[in-house]
Amino acid sequence: MKKEESEFRCIWLLLAGFGAAAVAVLVLCLSFRSQIPDTVGRVLTEAERAEVIGSNSPLTEYVYLSPNANFPREDVIRKVTIHHMAGDLLLEDLGASFAQRDRRASSNYAIDSQGRVGLYVEEANQAWTSRSPENDSQAVTIEVANDEIGGEWHVSDVAYERLIELCVDICRRNGIEKLWYTGDETGNLTLHSMFYSGTECPGPYLKSRMGEIAEEVNRRLNRE
Ligand SMILES: [Zn+2]
Repeated sequence: MKKEESEFRCIWLLLAGFGAAAVAVLVLCLSFRSQIPDTVGRVLTEAERAEVIGSNSPLTEYVYLSPNANFPREDVIRKVTIHHMAGDLLLEDLGASFAQRDRRASSNYAIDSQGRVGLYVEEANQAWTSRSPENDSQAVTIEVANDEIGGEWHVSDVAYERLIELCVDICRRNGIEKLWYTGDETGNLTLHSMFYSGTECPGPYLKSRMGEIAEEVNRRLNRE
């Protein structure tokens, strides 16, 4: 073979290699995108909304699904993780915030200070809430609004009551027989600050009531 011919072949092989790599990347991107359900990132029709709520908590009053999630979650649900908003946001405003892809944040549910429940990541999918993919793959995560900004980061009594009801409902539907609060990540009632030392989340008020929350949820789970 002449020298020019072999160089020519080399260039063509190189080009073919690049082409194949580009196609592989494109296929990967497309398959990743197709995992995101088309119900994400837009206002749903009444029928879609009813269907989504039907496979999640019936306590849900507001739905705006976030793209910031793993579709589907990588493990089974066996935990609940409680967060606070570090603010007194409306469910709609939190939905708009979780809709921004560059925030790379979301939660399964949120509860506002009026006790309304919002759904942002369906339970079948994995929210990006606790800085621990291992925890979030097993947990349903809940953000609770604060009616005191700073200090104890208090939450309203109606939000607190709804939090108990939502935990009971999540446990019942997912076969969690009991919530254990151990103060560390060995329990199945976990907190953001267990996984990331740079946060106070969920704040002193909710933290001080975790034992009570587990006790009350378990009491209601045993009642019926
Ligand atoms: Zn948090």
